[in-house]
Amino acid sequence: MTEKMVVDKVEKLVGVKGMNDLLPAQSATVEWFEEKVRALFSRYAYRNIRTPIVERTPLFVRGLGEVTDIVEKEMYSFDDRLNGDPLTLRPEATAGVVRAALEHSLLYDGGKRLYYIGPMFRHERPQKGRYRQFDQIGAEALGFSGPEVDAELILMAHHLWQEIGLQDVRLELNSLGQPAERLAHRQALIAYFERHQDALDEDARRRLHSNPLRILDTKNPTMQALVNAAPQLLDFLGSESLAHLNSLRAILDANQVAYSINPRLVRGMDYYNLSVFEFVTDRLGSQGTVCAGGRYDYLFEQLGGKPSPAVGWALGVDRVLELLKAAGMPKREPVLDAYAIVSDLSFMPQVLAVLHTLRTCGVSVQMHTSAAQTMGSMKSQFKRADASGARHALIFAANELSQHQVTVKALRDAAAPQITHSLADVAAWASTLQSAA
Ligand code: ATP
Ligand code: MG
Repeated sequence: MTEKMVVDKVEKLVGVKGMNDLLPAQSATVEWFEEKVRALFSRYAYRNIRTPIVERTPLFVRGLGEVTDIVEKEMYSFDDRLNGDPLTLRPEATAGVVRAALEHSLLYDGGKRLYYIGPMFRHERPQKGRYRQFDQIGAEALGFSGPEVDAELILMAHHLWQEIGLQDVRLELNSLGQPAERLAHRQALIAYFERHQDALDEDARRRLHSNPLRILDTKNPTMQALVNAAPQLLDFLGSESLAHLNSLRAILDANQVAYSINPRLVRGMDYYNLSVFEFVTDRLGSQGTVCAGGRYDYLFEQLGGKPSPAVGWALGVDRVLELLKAAGMPKREPVLDAYAIVSDLSFMPQVLAVLHTLRTCGVSVQMHTSAAQTMGSMKSQFKRADASGARHALIFAANELSQHQVTVKALRDAAAPQITHSLADVAAWASTLQSAA
């Protein structure tokens, strides 16, 4: 452009509604939590999988079911600008994990225990604990049919709550049985709701014949009495389904994991069978489900693959952290080992070389920076050092540097003497700067 651009007033851009920035004060806690998760999951032999955030739309339509909240109204979908392929930002990760397992024949030599961490996208009404972009952590055990694996996953979630000190979550459990059992129950359910047509809301009426089970999942308070008295799927289970449930219960009982059977627990996706469960809390209002999952033995087939049993769960990171906050969890902030005070800009080549060695030794150190070619007074630099939260100040001044030395001053312990160290053997004293934690 040759002409000078004339800008009257530039509108300030803001982020997308329901999609939040995670600033350093909060991300430190998220990272702490994720590290706990990774460490714990590896002790259970679960390994990380990372699938793309964008998938083809039919994956979710077929995987989750057409008559689900997510597919009906919550997906961010668009067409590929070149070939017109229908694409969707993933609203959940199970379908993508199963797709990847099929695409790469991951189960060729047996079952796989996997976990993922990452953002999901749903066009919901934003409110506390409910966002349009939110992080989920999920664990999936692919290729395992036994109730002991359902139990392992539940015990792992329970263990995670213990590791991070989370209380006030309770486990609810149900069985959705097998398709034939569900069909018999479905007919009883339709007959029941038909007798009570007048009491159904619009959503329920629409789903009466397409997906009556989902009516049990309603959040409409005026329908609670009606759904409470509806025929229960548990009464339609055959002996094998009951045996699966009872084996799971026996393991939970033996491991002192308390739970209650909730016959109305049906979950929001179509792919579940047998065990379904949720960890819920009363401390987060209506966004009370912290972690949810179940068995999905038919999803592989539904996505065009060889049948393989599977079970998994996903937790909402925001809700877990919200709950920890409500319980008064201390803030997690990284502590700096040192702050480098530098009396003259010309010392920087030497100072940065020393800082590099310190960092190689594991010391965290922030350097003072110049303004208009000057480093500022020592007093103002000490003020900065103090405000940084660092535990030590490293003083690089003319006197010290001329003798190849640096002075270390403890900032949080007034009684501690200043110590002068030689720059020739940084590695030898680097560890004295590091906090024990
Ligand atoms: P809800 O009934 O609260 O809508 P859901 O059944 O849709 O939950 P899942 O799809 O099972 O939730 O997702 C697992 C977990 O992910 C939930 O238990 C919750 O902790 C979290 N989660 C789901 N949707 C959101 C969202 N929009 N914002 C934040 N966290 C969410
Ligand atoms: Mg939902």
